[in-house]
Amino acid sequence: MSIKENLQKIKNTLPHNVTLVAVSKTKPVEDILEAYHAGQRIFGENKIQEMVDKHEVMPKDIQWHMIGHVQTNKVKYMAPFVSLIHGVDSLKLLKEINKQAQKLDRTIDCLLQLKIAEEDSKFGMAFAEAKALLLSEEFNAMKHITVVGVMGMATFTEDDVQIKAEFTKLKTAFESLKKIQTANCKLQTISMGMSSDYEIAIACGSTMIRVGSSIFGERNYN
Ligand SMILES: *Cc1c(COP(=O)(O)O)cnc(C)c1O
Repeated sequence: MSIKENLQKIKNTLPHNVTLVAVSKTKPVEDILEAYHAGQRIFGENKIQEMVDKHEVMPKDIQWHMIGHVQTNKVKYMAPFVSLIHGVDSLKLLKEINKQAQKLDRTIDCLLQLKIAEEDSKFGMAFAEAKALLLSEEFNAMKHITVVGVMGMATFTEDDVQIKAEFTKLKTAFESLKKIQTANCKLQTISMGMSSDYEIAIACGSTMIRVGSSIFGERNYN
């Protein structure tokens, strides 16, 4: 099937409140353009330099989401155009995003990445850590970022029961953190679900899925 057909097939099954981020990492601009011409406007990348390069040559009405782990020293390169940063996992990183956004006189939307997987390899904050951050004075003083939700990744496993338990953990954390409402904390988005598990994620309350290989095909890493 073509990229356009893959995209339409997925979009046809999505509830209205679920946003699709087309994950285009490692894929050439021709592939992204094919999805663009099929109507897709939100794309996710996991490397800042790659996203910057693609942003330069692609149509300017694309919303670029940074879904990967962010190094503090590279925030400045994406700050002028990034539309949502999914993987925010420390106050230090938020501070840098706020600083770069301030220089540009803009506000950058962020998601806090929570650790929900049992496996060790995944990034993310513990629930208590995220809560403490959102309640801190230091965070409240940041005028150029808005935390609009949470993001999480389930364990890479075939065990649907475990995946479901992990996504439910994120949904529960979201509902609890949502009670914190300040000028720069307005939780509305739960980013969870990828090609292999987005249907489970939606059943568990996801409002934003990040799908790559089911749209663009398998990735080749060299
Ligand atoms: C690569 C990636 C995805 C998409 O993965 P697929 O299995 O290709 O759908 C989603 N989220 C993050 C954080 C990723 O790095």
